[in-house]
Amino acid sequence: MPIKDEIAEFADDMCAWRRDIHAHPETAFEETRTSDIVAEKLESFGIEVHRGLAKTGVVGTLAVGNSNRAIGLRADLDALDILEENTFEHVSTHPGKMHACGHDGHTTMLLGAAKYLSETRRFNGTVQFIFQPAEENEAGGRVMCEDGLFDLFPVEAVYGMHNQPGLPLGKFGVRVGPSMASADMFEITIKGKGSHAAHPHQGADPIVTGAEIVTALQRIISRSANPIEAAVISVTQFHAGTNTNVIPETAIIKGTCRTLSGSVQDMIEARMEEVATGIARAHGLTAEITYDRRYPVLVNTKEETLKAIKAAQAVAGADNVSTDHPPTMGSEDFAWMLQHNPGCYIRVGNGEGEDGGCVVHNPNYDFNDEASVYGASYWAALVEQELSL
Ligand SMILES: [Zn+2]
Ligand SMILES: [Zn+2]
Repeated sequence: MPIKDEIAEFADDMCAWRRDIHAHPETAFEETRTSDIVAEKLESFGIEVHRGLAKTGVVGTLAVGNSNRAIGLRADLDALDILEENTFEHVSTHPGKMHACGHDGHTTMLLGAAKYLSETRRFNGTVQFIFQPAEENEAGGRVMCEDGLFDLFPVEAVYGMHNQPGLPLGKFGVRVGPSMASADMFEITIKGKGSHAAHPHQGADPIVTGAEIVTALQRIISRSANPIEAAVISVTQFHAGTNTNVIPETAIIKGTCRTLSGSVQDMIEARMEEVATGIARAHGLTAEITYDRRYPVLVNTKEETLKAIKAAQAVAGADNVSTDHPPTMGSEDFAWMLQHNPGCYIRVGNGEGEDGGCVVHNPNYDFNDEASVYGASYWAALVEQELSL
């Protein structure tokens, strides 16, 4: 029987697990209930469980046969700080928190694969099932790596997966190379001299200077970056002043930078410092910049991506796997795991229209339970293919 048909036999169980997790969303490093459920299920499948990496992370180890080869499969546990607007039965019971990115589905798909693989055992080697906390903003994957994830559980490659609303159910999308952007945060503090707003010549205005810096930052993209290479600078906050007749002492500008290459990222960081400090100095003020590199570029390695494509095609059929899936300027914590190992991050269709087309991070989003069978089957096919008997 094809893997997908065997996994479809317990699709109702997966649906129940997923909806229970959806109803009890937990955010960064507080995924204790979800982590307990994952550990209990893995243990019930006879899988060895290790807990505590990055606080709420869980690793399940399933070793079959005598091969010393090992691969890692990764899912994410966390929800978002969003007030859910759905009205179905499994709606969030934690007000202000919501599984709006489908990580409830990702956790379920990897549990489904763990159940299937522990029962069928048609492979030779070790599978590390990695359940990471805090994918959203807080880099729980990086913390797991820093806590020794791949020293304790070495693997020859690591694989990740995310649902994609708008991609039809039963389809996969992936590409070799840079697939998701780096995400850096910056903060520029401009210090001037406060004065009466009627006498600006007696002060040094951080607002006018700050406004000039905001527009000049966009010139880094249009004049310093190679137009063939993708890059985004978005100023998202500008804080200054408390009164209409006072020029304040300071202004603070914050925002984010996204790129698909490390060299563009290096260039932006360097130019941003020159532009901000240079403009401030020109007007008799100072600017200090902090530049925080949060997530690196997510780069799918060629060999592992070809393996992922083969496994996805075995599940979905050759026509249902897009191998030229467009990159996005969004970012992914899984990129940190790919800094330690070769590997691949693939998209699984969440469906179109009302069933699965609502974008992630939206208060009306829900993971499409029908995608669980495809996702779990992909994981299982990848293991049987890569750790073949
Ligand atoms: Zn998300
Ligand atoms: Zn996500």
